[in-house]
This record gives sequence, C-alpha cells and structure tokens, in this order.
Amino acid sequence: MDSNASHGPALFATAASPDIVAPGVPVRTTCPYCGVGCGVLATPDGRGGATISGDLAHPANAGRLCSKGSALGETLGLETRLLHPFVDGVQTNWARALDQVAKRLQAVRAAHGPGAIAFYLSGQLLTEDYYVANKLAKGFIGTPHVDTNSRLCMASSVAGHRRAFGADVVPQCYDDLELADLVVLAGSNAAWCHPILYQRIQTARGERGVRVVNIDPRRTATCEGSDLHLPIRPGTDAILWCGLLVRLAERGLLDTLFIDAHTRGFSEALGGARTIAPTLEAIATKCGLPREDIELFYEWFSATPRVVSCYSQGVNQSAQGTDKVNAIINCHLATGRIGKPGSGPLSLTGQPNAMGGREVGGLANMLAAHMGFSEGERDRVRRFWDAPNLVAGEGLKAVQMFEAVAEGRIKALWVMGTNPAVSLPRADAMRDGLARLELLVVSENVAGNDTIRHAHVRLPAAAWGEKDGTVTNSERRVSRQRAFLPLPARARPDWWMLCEVARRLGYGEAFAYRSAADIFDEHARLSGFENEGMRAFDISGIAGATGEAFQRLEPFQWPLRPGSPPAERLFADGGFFTEDRKARFVTIAPPRVSAAVSAEWPFVLNTGRIRDQWHTMTRTGLSPRLAIHIAEPFVEIHPDDAACLQLEQGTLAKVETVDGSAVLRVLVNRGQQSGTLFVPIHWSAENSSAGRIGALVQPATDPFSGQPEAKATPACIGRHPVGAFGFLLSRQPIQLGEAAYWAHARAPFGHVVNFALNEPRNGWTAWLRATLPEGEHMSFQDAMAGTYRAAVLRAGRLEAVLFVGADPKLPSPEWLKSRFALAAIPASERRDLLAGTPVEGTTDDGPVVCVCFQVGAKRIEAAAAAGNCSVEKIGRQLGAGTNCGSCIPELRRLLASSGVVRDLA
Ligand code: SF4
Repeated sequence: MDSNASHGPALFATAASPDIVAPGVPVRTTCPYCGVGCGVLATPDGRGGATISGDLAHPANAGRLCSKGSALGETLGLETRLLHPFVDGVQTNWARALDQVAKRLQAVRAAHGPGAIAFYLSGQLLTEDYYVANKLAKGFIGTPHVDTNSRLCMASSVAGHRRAFGADVVPQCYDDLELADLVVLAGSNAAWCHPILYQRIQTARGERGVRVVNIDPRRTATCEGSDLHLPIRPGTDAILWCGLLVRLAERGLLDTLFIDAHTRGFSEALGGARTIAPTLEAIATKCGLPREDIELFYEWFSATPRVVSCYSQGVNQSAQGTDKVNAIINCHLATGRIGKPGSGPLSLTGQPNAMGGREVGGLANMLAAHMGFSEGERDRVRRFWDAPNLVAGEGLKAVQMFEAVAEGRIKALWVMGTNPAVSLPRADAMRDGLARLELLVVSENVAGNDTIRHAHVRLPAAAWGEKDGTVTNSERRVSRQRAFLPLPARARPDWWMLCEVARRLGYGEAFAYRSAADIFDEHARLSGFENEGMRAFDISGIAGATGEAFQRLEPFQWPLRPGSPPAERLFADGGFFTEDRKARFVTIAPPRVSAAVSAEWPFVLNTGRIRDQWHTMTRTGLSPRLAIHIAEPFVEIHPDDAACLQLEQGTLAKVETVDGSAVLRVLVNRGQQSGTLFVPIHWSAENSSAGRIGALVQPATDPFSGQPEAKATPACIGRHPVGAFGFLLSRQPIQLGEAAYWAHARAPFGHVVNFALNEPRNGWTAWLRATLPEGEHMSFQDAMAGTYRAAVLRAGRLEAVLFVGADPKLPSPEWLKSRFALAAIPASERRDLLAGTPVEGTTDDGPVVCVCFQVGAKRIEAAAAAGNCSVEKIGRQLGAGTNCGSCIPELRRLLASSGVVRDLA
C-alpha cells in the first residue's frame, strides 16, 4: 500500500528519506523526550554527531524545539554507552549472551512456571520494540507480567478514558489549544514539562486573548502565563471539579441533548458530586482556595463553549488519580464539550511513546491493539498470533511487580530502557529486591545506572539516533523515529534481541521480522483484525505499506481505517466504544486524605520535573548546556516553614519519609504552600550522594489504574548540619565520594561538583588538595574562618578551581566558570581567581537563565534596569528567550521581581 489517494493529509512523503544516512543530509525524526512528540531534523556530521533543529513540517511543533530538544546533539557521544553484551560481568558476544538469556528464562519457566518471568518496559521504547516484547511474553512465554514505566506516568488517564469512553482515547488534538477560548491546566507544569504546547497556548493567549487557568498546589513557571492560579490543597482536585458539575447543573448549562443521546449515568454522577461538593463554602474550605477564585473559574468555564482541559501528572500520580480524571471528563460530557474544535479534555502524556505502548498492550491490564482479556478478545489475539501460550488474564502492575520481585515470586526480569531502581516508589527497597532475582536482563544504551549495575545480563541497545520505528504522541499522532547514525559497536535494536531470544526458545517462525517495517505492518493488521469499528485503535488503513513506504511515512493520527482519513477528533457526535456506544458518567468517590500527615510526618512531599532534565538524566545529563540551569537536587519549602525549622537558603536539609531519606539543597520559595515540600525526581546514585527521590515515595496506588501516589507522601524535614560547603570546577571529572554531600553536573568547560564536608576547620584540606589535578597550584587558607580556596593552572590555562567555606554563601561561581574559556589566565588576574570576584572589565552574568544563549540573571536584570523591561526587548537585546523559548516564564518572573530569583548554582 503506497498511495495517498484515499486519505486527507498525505500519509507518505513524495521523497524517500535515505536508507543509508549521509553526512550533511537532514533526516526527519522525532524527539525522544516528552509526550508532545516534536518533529526533529537531524543532520549527521559524519563523525558520530549531528546538528539538530525543529522540523517545520511536523504538526506538533512546526519547527520549534524546547531546551531539551534543542540540546539533543550534545547527547550523542559514546562515552557513557553500553557497547557490548555482558554476562555475569564478563564481556561477551551476542550469540553467547542471547543463548544465556534463553537458557536461563527456560530454566525459570521450567522450575517455577511462566508466571515467574516478568518484563518491565518503557515509554521510551519504540512501538515496534514494545509490540515484540508484549507478543513474546503474553503469547509465547505465557507470562502476563508485562508492565511499563508509563504506569508511573499516565495510567490514571488510561483508566479514566476506559471508564468514560470505553477505550483509551484522547478525543482532542493540539490544534484545539489554539482554537480554545479557555485552557485549563490541571496538575500540569506545562511550561517546563510540555514546553512546546505551553508556547502554543501562550501564542494564542497573546494573539487572541485565550484565558489560562492553572490548577496546581505550587506556583510554578506555568503561572507566569496564566490568568488565574488556583493553588489547590493537594489531593482535592476531584472536589473542585465535582463542584463545577454541580454549578453547571444549577445554572442550567448542561447539554441535555448530548447527555440524553450519548451518555449514561448522569443523575448518579451529579448526586455523588452534590455529596462531595455541596456548597461553594465547602469547596473553598476543602480545597483551601479563596471562594471568589473558585467562583471566577466556574464562571469562566460556564460561559466559554470552547474550553480545553489539560491534565497531567499532578492529576494522574495520585491514589485517586482515575477519579480525578473522570471528574474532569464528567464536566465535558455534561456540557457536550468533547471532540469539538477547541473544546474537550486533553491528557498530556509524559513520555514520547507512552501512547504507543498503550496501543500494543504494554500495560499489564491490556492485551494488544487495545484489546482486553475477555474470552473473545483472547481468542482473537491467539488466532492472529498463532500463539501457543496466550495468557489468561491481567498481570502485575509496576509496583506490585517489583514487590513480587522483592518477595521472590518473580524470578526472572527483563528491564528495557528504563531505570526502575531510581524511579519506582520505595526505590531503595525495590533496588535491594533486585538481588533476589535469579535472572536480571537489562537492555540499555548506558553502561552505568542504578539498575544495570545489578544485571546478570547486559544487552547493548540502540539509542535515539540509531533506532528506527514509530512513536505516538499525546494527540494520537504516530510519527517516525528514523535512524541518522550507524549502530555503534555491538548495539542492536531491542526488537532484534527479543526476536533472537524468541528463536532460541523455539518461536522463530512467529518472530521472523526483518525490519521495524515488518513489525509495524503486523501491528497495523492486528489493529484492524475483526475490528469492524468496535475498537478505537485501528490503523489498518496503513496495513500493507512496503518498507520503502514506511521510510516515507508522514505523521498521522489514529484511528486510520481503510478508506477513511485519519481522525483529528472523536466523540463530538457520540460513538463511544462502550457496548451501547454511550459514554459513562462516573460517580466520584469522596476523596480520601491521601497524605496522612502527623506530628511525626508533618509535611506533604510533592515530586516533579525541572525544565532542562529528563527522567534519571542518563541522556540530558550529558548535555553541559542543560546542566547549567539547575545543577543539584533541591527541596523547595515555604519561607514560614523554613524559618520555623531554621532552614536557610542554600544550606542542606534531610528529607525523610517512612521509606527513605535524601539530602538536598534548601530552596526557600514563596510559591510553595506551607506544609508542603517539592523535590525533583531526576537525580540518582550516579550523580548525587543522596538525591534518589524515588526512595522517599510511598507505594500507595490508585485502585483502578495502579498508578502510584507520587505527589503526596507524608514527610519530615530538618537541617542537615555540615562543617563546610564548597564547589569544585574542573576540566577533568573528579570524584568526591568521601564528601558528606555531593552532586555532580556537566559544564561546557568540564565538570561542576557542589559538595559539603563534615569536619569543620580545614581538617579536610590535605584530602581535598590531593584530589586536585596536577599543575601549578595556588591556594589561600584561613583556618580560623574555615576557608580554603585553590586554583590549578597548567601552561597558564585554568584546570580547576576549588572554593570551601563554613557558609553556603560562597562567591558566585559564574565568573570563575567564564575563565575556563581563556587560553591562558592573564598574570594580572591570577590573584582574582582566589577572590572569586570579576576583575575590572569582566562581568559576572549570574546564574544562567537562557541556556541557548548562555544569558545569566544578572545580565538580564542589568538590561531590564537599562529600560529593556519586556520579554521582547530582552530578546532583542540579549537573545534570551528567542530560540527554544523555554526560559520565557523565568524571564517574565525576573522582570516582575527586582531581586535575584534563585540562588542555586
Ligand atoms: Fe522534545 Fe521539548 Fe518537544 Fe517535548 S516539547 S518533544 S522535550 S522538543
């Protein structure tokens, strides 16, 4: 099948992407980070690198990329890659490694049954990898235990969609964000986590006056572009949305025609909502919001037919996440605002291919192609796959799967492209549980992370830039990820490894794929197999595409049925995927208090992402540019709480929960609610002494989705006293493993280590001095003050700078960082190095705000003081904010405040 004739937008480009990638020839691919799924143009340089730009032709981003996407070119090096297979710590060849995987899996199955084997997959995998893993496990090995890190990210949205629509369908598309008159962001720091969508919203806000409401306990960067911020009490979102449903009913603003024709369960849902949110006063009290702000939100929602409600991890990652999703969807169903241009609910997915994983059945409670485990569905899949061992029902979801590992019920686990030893709740216990496995296989592209170090078998997987296949973004748009670099050393695609193991287990015939195109074609055919319009996920309109056509495949949205154009939106006229084709209102259960704070655990711990890092930093951590913005793990706390606990800005705090602890830099922030803490999820044992946030998170899960409650763990916080604080800037990596605290980050000149030491008064001087590289050493010491400073030059060039003091308020490292760019430090400047203050004629830019143009806060403030007091003027003057735009919210905040916004190095 290779025709564009019967479809709307062209499905295939007229010019083929080259089979063999040539230097200088751009390749159209997709960003591997968030669920926006931006199109990327990668132009290989012939030396293993590539220049990166946004793909103007991709509908998700029209050429724009955020800071993370723009820095992809800095993450392509091989220095941290796993490049050869290893078995029991010994490098080996593929044949032996695969033989061992098959033999050991077979042994576990023979001794304990197939249910002792599990697969833990990732929203970073391509759909084709996911498809083969799921087929091998659920159809041939016969284990239902296949789950994915997407369980931690959007499982509550999946469950909410299935309850309301009968299928896991996102009814809207991104264009709706520009067509709406009101955009509600619920539990979404889109400015940092979905930056390109946030920019699309902000453009519409600037051009058309689109209103933005932001529902989030924290005042985040997203608030800088919002018209109303509702700092809701954690865990009370469902009350707010139930109150809206009640208000819509009271004011006669329901779409009764839509309700009658296309839905069921409205009366019960409304009755339940009235119980939960009887009056505005009750809502205000329970949600901790000003009554007039709730009133305003309800008024805007009521009066605006074109409203898109976006929800993300703040809603999903909750022990009541599914009910929260359904409380939002209920309001849209009640007003008939669904599937229409600029009007409907829109789940913002965290990962690039979480949606693709859902399509193939990568979740433990789905089978394949959106089918479940009814007898009819199982029979259909069994016949299609000719599967000898099709599973009988659902498997263990992520948290339960790793509990089974820790308890010894799962004996063999294959982890693909994810780092559960960092990211799971109770991460320390989960990591320790890996030791009980008889077989841990990890297919990865990095040689070291917290998970792979426990593996019996390490398989070198293809990385972004080498992979070939498809991903599906948050608007159901399937896009190609194309290889633009050759596979290095022994690295291979995940699907290839799975097929080789399948062959060794005796299933070669069912896994005889020659390419990703073969797998995609089977996936497309299964989606349409005995479908007859009953299953939402159907891309059989593209089944039969040749390998050459697969190369030219353009981004398209599903469903894509034979002879029909792809569907931009669904459900405007009903047609849900329940048995009677009607949507279901869901009666929301009264919210439980998910974070049981107490005298011992008085804080609610919230977790989340930062602007320039992705997951556990195995890729974004390689980019010096991205590490500049925030270089170490931190805990945000309200000024009143900080004062009460004598926690000062820049000191260290120990955060503890029932399950673990972390030591983090204190960031006092008025945007944090009193009684709550915020910590970022990205740091691991690879780059910090005690920044593993997963270790703190409780294992409570949502009863419908199995998604962990990552936003509200009871916690306590206290000072973490140390004798001295310091930073080390160095061209070469230097380990400070003996320090009481350390966090390592890349920098354009080399490496930055922020650290703290236990002993006061220079007891550590000799040890620290010994860690410095060889060269011409200069130092300054004040034993009484506990101060030590050193610089190392080699042939006049700066090699390292070390500052230690009793106080965390050390001189700013920013000017010192700029000295690494000099071929030689002028003799007149040498003494200034130890002072840490800019010499005359040079400047200290302050902490970097715009990573694209390396513009610091002090330079922005100076430009603003000189009259450039708008984002546009700053952009014209300094370039800041004019490339990826990710820093624009921070620019706005800087301009709005006269002081320095943050002190983190
Ligand atoms: Fe990648 Fe940024 Fe686009 Fe997300 S918004 S897909 S991280 S470029």
